[in-house]
Amino acid sequence: MAQEDVFKKIVSHCKEYGFVFPSSDIYDGLGAVYDYGQNGVELKNNIKQYWWQAMVLLHDNIVGIDAAIFMHPTVWKASGHVDAFNDPLIDNRDSKKRYRADVLIEDQIGKYEEKIEKEIAKARKRFGEAFDEAQFRATNGRVLEQQAKRDALHERYAQAMNDMNLEELKQIILDEEIVCPISGTRNWTDVRQFNLMFKTEVGSTADGASTIYLRPETAQGIFVNYLNVQKTGRMRLPFGIAQIGKAFRNEIVARQFIFRMREFEQMEMQFFVKPGTELDWFKKWKQTRLNWHLALGFGNDNYRFHDHEKLAHYANAASDIEFHMPFGFKEVEGIHSRTNFDLSQHAKYSGKKIEYFDPESNESYTPYVIETSIGVDRMFLSVMCHSFEEEKLENGETRTVLHLPAALAPTKLAIMPLVKKDGLPEKAREIMDSLKFHFKCAYDEKDSIGKRYRRQDAVGTPYCITIDHDTLNDNCVTLRDRDTMKQERVSIDSLRALIEDKVSITSLLKKN
Ligand code: ATP
Repeated sequence: MAQEDVFKKIVSHCKEYGFVFPSSDIYDGLGAVYDYGQNGVELKNNIKQYWWQAMVLLHDNIVGIDAAIFMHPTVWKASGHVDAFNDPLIDNRDSKKRYRADVLIEDQIGKYEEKIEKEIAKARKRFGEAFDEAQFRATNGRVLEQQAKRDALHERYAQAMNDMNLEELKQIILDEEIVCPISGTRNWTDVRQFNLMFKTEVGSTADGASTIYLRPETAQGIFVNYLNVQKTGRMRLPFGIAQIGKAFRNEIVARQFIFRMREFEQMEMQFFVKPGTELDWFKKWKQTRLNWHLALGFGNDNYRFHDHEKLAHYANAASDIEFHMPFGFKEVEGIHSRTNFDLSQHAKYSGKKIEYFDPESNESYTPYVIETSIGVDRMFLSVMCHSFEEEKLENGETRTVLHLPAALAPTKLAIMPLVKKDGLPEKAREIMDSLKFHFKCAYDEKDSIGKRYRRQDAVGTPYCITIDHDTLNDNCVTLRDRDTMKQERVSIDSLRALIEDKVSITSLLKKN
């Protein structure tokens, strides 16, 4: 099945099983805004808990905060967002559709790369074992031609973005003969800058009201609290501040479901270090964060680093962790070495001294910062994409199953009396009442056992137990594993020990 179709299925599965709904669904939705349903909220909370504990539980020098979404407007002047948090946009006059000029050009670069990959795949098939990819890349005429076009375009594009040369961006789109995917025409407007921050007003009267912004990132809430936390927590460098919270960006093109939203959630950690040590810490945090992802067991091949060539003006190193989504490798997390840019800017704009007194060297300085920044929703999407399977069974049937890591699954155990009589529901409730304190359980007595298993498979419940007539005599139940579908008879007394460890976040943390 084409990857595009798989993705469509995942999106509809998310809706059908209460994971993600379009916002304001009964009013036909709101672009790029989504609500999490009864299962989605559990999965999302588990992802957040996994991240939070990996930060503040596993590191005794990282603490958390929860800053307000509204901040003093000068924060965004100081951070550079008012002047520079822009995307270059372009409209097609025929379709009236709006695009990000940089994305159109990046897609074009991707097309050259795809052509090269296709040539390589064809040659690999033809030459089999003997295929030498490096040699093929260096000598094949068609590959060299595409590579030269790709490199020339990339260089021209990087230069235009660096200079924010909007005319040149438009000229590239024209020269590359990029057409609007909807109208198929090249009838483009000029490229314009578009600020991504949402504005609103605070204050009740029109005169007294002042413009404030919905935060486009959670990081600034951490920077403006650096002094508060450092002083009240008596923190010594190096130390980190972690935060989970909503962020808002008026994205021009909303695409790919919850991958790019206008209201989303970030999990960010700013790690303050002594100047000069930042690149070592940058390397360490890249590895620590990759390990966090790998502990989920989705396989090393599904992740890669994308080291940035074009750095933001305040950064001296930056890398993304990309995950293999059905629509290609995409950024899920960014790790940035932000120098002392943010703290220095806030010192300048607030007039406060924002420094650290180093008792070892007896000097004061502005700490440097390593940031790790991951989108909860993108993480959620990567978990969903990797877990979704339409599995062909030996009997020819297909079952839809979510192989969620047990620690992230919304429900850990489904409890099912075989029939709705003979005291079995009462026994099932009794088991539920003792286990519900330890992990999330669901009770289900409707339909055949087979149907009930399928329902739980579809929402990723790792374990089910069935209570039958024998249970009343031998105090044992049938425990069924979601992935293997194997069933075993186990005593009720052993259930907690059998399950708790496997479904706890602790089990994931230990793999970090
Ligand atoms: P992109 O290049 O995809 O727009 P970005 O580089 O602007 O992302 P950052 O500003 O580094 O993203 O934000 C950190 C993380 O926040 C990203 O890695 C991503 O997981 C998440 N994120 C950013 N924008 C969005 C969005 N519009 N919707 C959902 N998640 C987002």
